Amino acid sequence: MPPVDKHVQTSTERTGKEYRDIHEWLDGDTEKKAERHDITKIYEYGKMIEDKYGKEALQEYIQHIHDDVQAKFNHIQQDIEKAISETLVYFGVK
Ligand SMILES: [Zn+2]
Repeated sequence: MPPVDKHVQTSTERTGKEYRDIHEWLDGDTEKKAERHDITKIYEYGKMIEDKYGKEALQEYIQHIHDDVQAKFNHIQQDIEKAISETLVYFGVK
């Protein structure tokens, strides 16, 4: 998943603001990282973030999780494609 600085960069490109507090909150504490990325908590955490930082920050919080999901699944897809390719070569199929 992208590091905090990458999230800060994409927020800046999207909004002109870093929203570093949001990205640090999501990724900074390794003990709480999974809980803070839990999509079943989006309403609860989203409301908390919107109340504290506003609507645009809420969107950046959701976008952060979206970008992490996309990056994670892209990585999984690459790993699967590599494994399939290596397995086909191993058996002389390709
Ligand atoms: Zn993250």
